[in-house]
This record gives sequence, structure tokens and C-alpha cells, in this order.
Amino acid sequence: MAKTSAKQAESSTDTNQVDISAPEIGTSATTNQQPGQDSDKVEISIEKKLVALFSLQQIDSQIDRIRIVRGELPLEVEDLEDEIAGLETRVDNYIQEVESVEKQLHDKQISIKDCQTLIKRYEEQQNNVRNNREYDALTKEIEFQSLEIQLAEKRIREFTAQLATSREEIEAAQNVLSDRRNDLDIKRNELSDIVTETELEEKSLIHKSEEQQHFIEERLLTAYKRIRKNARNGLAVVGVERDACGGCFSAIPPQRQLDIRLHKKIIVCEYCGRILVDKELADTVHI
Ligand SMILES: [Zn+2]
Repeated sequence: MAKTSAKQAESSTDTNQVDISAPEIGTSATTNQQPGQDSDKVEISIEKKLVALFSLQQIDSQIDRIRIVRGELPLEVEDLEDEIAGLETRVDNYIQEVESVEKQLHDKQISIKDCQTLIKRYEEQQNNVRNNREYDALTKEIEFQSLEIQLAEKRIREFTAQLATSREEIEAAQNVLSDRRNDLDIKRNELSDIVTETELEEKSLIHKSEEQQHFIEERLLTAYKRIRKNARNGLAVVGVERDACGGCFSAIPPQRQLDIRLHKKIIVCEYCGRILVDKELADTVHI
């Protein structure tokens, strides 16, 4: 069983390393050579390549983190802008409502005056009536107008209460609105500060990344970029963590871990294709 898995690991190591390692570095043909200066040189060379790759990964991951942070901030600003727009609409609606109620209230005040004018006229007419029937008819008219006045006064009381409530709601909404506008100002300043700050940091990291890329041969760099592009977390070179790939967390067999530690060839994860480095090597990299 152990023999089979070791064999499998061996064979997949050979397959996986083909497209990544250049023939002149760390192929089994080279490592099978007699131990000597040449072989030592190869080993050092592979280790350096791994360190260079892992360093590049650390730099590029920092750039990724900066972009993620900067990507989230504009969304917070956008959310606030949406909330403010919503509050402004609500305040506008209240104001329109208040204007409409004020107009209705004013109409009722006018209609009360009209009724009072009519009552006065009917009362004057009652002084000049020719019979009781005419007098009674005018009395009925006066009663009707009085009822109209009472009704209008009732409506005015309702409108007044409604206006008071609406005005309170406007004030409350305007308070929230002014708080949100303050928040928005703060967030916008924060955003522009962070953008300025992180753009500088990003620029210097991009420069660092480009410089680091000079230490890596074309073929490896192409492989690195391809793996990084396809990986959701942008990781192309990962450490072995708790006997597993630091990229996809798949378990790595002991024999394969040993091969990784030997630095004789560049070994990729069987499952996700990321380049693997051992923890000891990873720990030597400080960006
Ligand atoms: Zn993996």
C-alpha cells in the first residue's frame, strides 16, 4: 500500500514538474548524476528559485490585499449615498404632503368665511320676508351653513393635527439625513486618504514585484502567472501547512513532503497545481 502510493507520488511528481521546471534545472536526469559540485549547484539553484518565487508570491499577495480593501470602501460610500437619496425622497414626500394639507386647511378656512357671508345675507333677508314659509326656508339655509362651518372646523382640527405629525416626521428625517451626510463626508475623506495612501504603497509593491520577477526565469514566471490567474485567492506558490497544501488544503504524502524539502525539483500540488515550498524555506522569506 505504502509502496504503491509512494510510486504514485513519484510518478505524478515527474508528470507535474514537467511543465514547470526547465529541463536544465532539477530534472531527475540531473539529480541522478553522481554527487559532486554540479549536483550541489543544481540544488542551491532550485532552492533560490523557490525562494524567489515564494518572495514574489508574498509581494503579489500584499498587492491583492490592498486592492481588496480599496474595493470594499467605495461600496460603503455607495451604500451611504443610496441611504441619503432614500431619506431625501422621504423628506420631499413629507413636504409635499404638508403643502397639500396646508392648502386643504386654507380651503376650509375660506369656505367657513363663505358660509358666514351667506348666513349674514340670509339673516338680512329674513328681515324682509313676506311670509313664514320664506322665513322658514331661510332659517333652514342658515342651519345648513352652520353645519357646514362645524364640519369645516372639524376638518381644520384634523388637518392641524396631521400637520404637526408630518412636521415632526420631517424634522426627524432631516436629523437622520444630516447625520448620514456627516457620515458620508467622513467616509469620502477616509476613502480618498486610503486611496492616496494605498496607491503609493501599491505602486512601490508593483515596482518590488517587477524587480523580483527579474530573478525568476521566463518559463517559471509564465507558469507562476498562469497558476496565479487561475487560483481564486491569487496564490500560485504555497507553503506546506500541517501536512497539507497551503492552497487547497489537500493532504500531501510524507514521501512527497520529503521531496519538497530536498529542493531538488520544483514540485506542484497534485490537486490544485500550485507550486509547493516547505515551511522552513517559507519562513526564511520576509517581505
Ligand atoms: Zn493544492
